[in-house]
Amino acid sequence: MFDNLSDKLDKALHVLKGHGSITEVNVAETLKEVRRALLDADVNFKIAKDFTNRVKEKALGQNVLTSLKPSQLMVKIVKDELTELMGGDAAGINLSASPSVILMSGLQGSGKTTFSGKLANYLKSKKSKKPLLVACDVYRPAAINQLHVVGEQIGVEVYSEEGNMDPVVIATNAIAHAKQNGHNVVIVDTAGRLAVDEEMMTEIANIHSAIQPQETLFVVDSMTGQDAVNTAKAFNDRLNFDGVILTKLDGDTRGGAAISIKSVVNKPIKFIGTGEKMDAIDVFYPERMADRILG
Ligand code: GDP
Repeated sequence: MFDNLSDKLDKALHVLKGHGSITEVNVAETLKEVRRALLDADVNFKIAKDFTNRVKEKALGQNVLTSLKPSQLMVKIVKDELTELMGGDAAGINLSASPSVILMSGLQGSGKTTFSGKLANYLKSKKSKKPLLVACDVYRPAAINQLHVVGEQIGVEVYSEEGNMDPVVIATNAIAHAKQNGHNVVIVDTAGRLAVDEEMMTEIANIHSAIQPQETLFVVDSMTGQDAVNTAKAFNDRLNFDGVILTKLDGDTRGGAAISIKSVVNKPIKFIGTGEKMDAIDVFYPERMADRILG
């Protein structure tokens, strides 16, 4: 994960090795390389610039106050700032209502259906919940089948209505079904398109206002870099979602989405997807991710 970024940051931070103190000159040299590493990882220019400015201020300010070597101090500051940029503390999901309704949003192919299954599996096995999965992609029968396959695999019931083309009605009926059958979590998988379009946004906004979910999660493919951030912004403007799910972090992703998304939409990354299997889901811990990035 993020091997390229890790290597480049490691090299950048090595500039200070052997230096006795942090100076304007060597910090500038180091941060030029750090900024380049972030830009190569597909982090947005302004975010990378603000990031290095904050690191610079801290480094010059703390230099005399610490017993750490300059290179160690710089690693610590970069790690703290990366953690902060990615969200500070880990964010949980709100499961206080019964049933707690979770609405999944995102583009087609982002990994919504797969993640809906992973989340149901996680809540069932780790949190002793009784989830219900709901198939609301009325345009693609294959998507409904896919959710049924996933449900069977993990032993979670899937609610769908053959022939019903109204996702608002399906979602509403599913919640009534959940109440009658003792499901305490309802995960609503929705249709996605290949790009943000008005019709899809209106549809998901309608589902959102009809079912008033406790959690609206935005699922995004981390391999799509800055596009991931732009898509997140478009969905957030419309849905004011509660959290982000970054999928495909097991792939050859450069890391830009993981680093930038929180500061653009000001919503936490809650989970990550790290594979196609149902157990390839992890809670997102900003600090652990920063540790991984810095190797
Ligand atoms: P949806 O259209 O948003 O519902 O996307 P799908 O759940 O159908 O996922 C699209 C493709 O991405 C499928 O082939 C999934 O197996 C794959 N996929 C989803 N999540 C992950 C992940 O975390 N890692 C990898 N490697 N593949 C994933």
